[in-house]
Amino acid sequence: MVAHTTGLIKTGRRHHAANEDQLILSELNRVDVVDNLDPSHENAATFGAVRETCPKCLHTHLRLVLRQHTVRVAHLFCVSCASCFDASYANGMPALSI
Ligand SMILES: [Zn+2]
Repeated sequence: MVAHTTGLIKTGRRHHAANEDQLILSELNRVDVVDNLDPSHENAATFGAVRETCPKCLHTHLRLVLRQHTVRVAHLFCVSCASCFDASYANGMPALSI
């Protein structure tokens, strides 16, 4: 039931090395991200899996979680280790702000 990539995390340009498309992930404290700390994030709607994989689990693709009533900031979520990550482009631009 993994949805395809939403296209939100797409860089518009691809004329350089693939590395430049890599997002830089930084772990967020879940307390700062979601209001309602349910253990599995199950109250938060996710918007599909993204290309990036969890830096901790390595093979688990992260899910995009957008802002919603219990979610204060858009982030990427790992369903395996319940970690939240912020993502930015190599040039420092935030990747998840809309
Ligand atoms: Zn993980």
